[in-house]
Amino acid sequence: MVGLAAGVDNMKNTIAIVGRPNVGKSTLFNRLVGQRKAIMDNQSGVTRDRHYGYGDWIGKHFTVIDTGGYVHGSDDVFEESIRRQVKLAIDEADVVLFMVDVDAGMHGLDEEFANVLRRYQGKKPIYIVANKADTNARAHAAGEFYALGVGDGDIFTISSQSGSGTGDLLDAVVSHFEDPWEETEDEGLPKIAVVGRPNVGKSSLVNLLLGEERTIVTEIAGTTRDAIKTRYNAFGNEFILIDTAGLRRKTKVKEDIEFYSVLRSIRAMEESDVCIVMLDATRGIEAQDVNIIALADKNRKGIVILVNKWDLVEDKETNSTKKIEEQILEKIAPIAYPPIIFTSVLTKQRVHKAIETAIQVYENKTKKIPTSQLNEIMLRAIEEHQPPSVKGKMVRIKYVTQLPTHNPVFAFFCNLPQYVRDSYVRYLENRLRDNFGFEGVPIGVIFRKK
Ligand code: GDP
Ligand code: GDP
Repeated sequence: MVGLAAGVDNMKNTIAIVGRPNVGKSTLFNRLVGQRKAIMDNQSGVTRDRHYGYGDWIGKHFTVIDTGGYVHGSDDVFEESIRRQVKLAIDEADVVLFMVDVDAGMHGLDEEFANVLRRYQGKKPIYIVANKADTNARAHAAGEFYALGVGDGDIFTISSQSGSGTGDLLDAVVSHFEDPWEETEDEGLPKIAVVGRPNVGKSSLVNLLLGEERTIVTEIAGTTRDAIKTRYNAFGNEFILIDTAGLRRKTKVKEDIEFYSVLRSIRAMEESDVCIVMLDATRGIEAQDVNIIALADKNRKGIVILVNKWDLVEDKETNSTKKIEEQILEKIAPIAYPPIIFTSVLTKQRVHKAIETAIQVYENKTKKIPTSQLNEIMLRAIEEHQPPSVKGKMVRIKYVTQLPTHNPVFAFFCNLPQYVRDSYVRYLENRLRDNFGFEGVPIGVIFRKK
């Protein structure tokens, strides 16, 4: 086993919004996260106040962190609060938006933020976002913020309320992000991340695989230990293991531990090809688990779900694997493809199978179906069940091909792509899965005019 250095700084897709209270951070957050916030809007802990969510722009998916929603400071601890917000943003995000309010003009706290941010200038792209520029006159007033002496390039003047200016801002932001549909270099070894809530058994799994203790406590300052990457080689399996398991923050605040663990899981997931999402059998699937799985699906990652601590479930009659599988699939619907494996890291039950499955999922993710075989089978499936006509118009699909992308995407060429219904997309996806076995992998079905 060879430990790799923290590694090339892969492009990842996280945006953090920092700034003093009332400038409009949460308004922008809600706009970026859009309707998808609903999925984050559930129960416990971190998600309740929606400190993070996800959105997309021109096909690129990203995670947004509202640091203001996370760090609350009473007046006398503003300085500490600013420091924490900025540190969080720099450590966890790939692009930092520093928001100010053109309506209110320059504020003492803006300068304090700028002072802290300036220390990190050059480490991550930082954009000044002048919000509440609802009118042209106000937009012109944004110039005064150049005096803050921080940020990359122009100031973006926006109105979070109306959305004006946010398109230009997003164009700049997502230029730093990777496109999950894009063809990328095949880097060789599969990258497998182990993610999940605190205490599900991530460290135990990683320690078991690597045969060593790996609890690394970091006081992260500026330069982040992101996920740890280790080359793993055993029983003919070779891959890069990405884990955040050993990373424990030096913090006594329980809320912090939870929050950071979620963000770290997101980071590790973003860097992986396949993520192993670990659940605790005694707790079932929880809201944050669903969030992580939904994010992995959006980011086109392979997914394997482990229901760990299976040794602790005594009544396996009532709690049969089948029943638990159904419960999980119900919670993560419409995502239906991840394999679910019942493990005990403690007794080493099915740990080997879990790894083999993750490797298989990687192979599913990277395989290419020959066009002739694809057409033979799919055109027959289409003949058996034609696309329903819409407004008397018949959709005729002539040809299908797998695109040369990093993830399985199938393009169906037809006369009227705009008339294909979602239900028919699902039909085709299911036939592709039945015939070609894409277990654990999100697949794309798109229509093109021919
Ligand atoms: P935060 O404390 O930075 O998260 O700020 P909020 O998002 O809670 O916004 C503070 C106040 O500013 C709220 O009353 C918002 O409705 C208002 N606000 C946010 N964005 C805009 C904007 O673009 N224009 C105007 N006029 N008001 C805004
Ligand atoms: P992490 O926070 O996800 O890294 O979780 P840890 O690996 O630190 O495990 C949390 C606790 O659960 C530890 O006390 C482990 O010994 C225990 N644990 C991990 N896996 C299993 C398992 O399969 N069965 C049982 N009974 N306990 C486990």
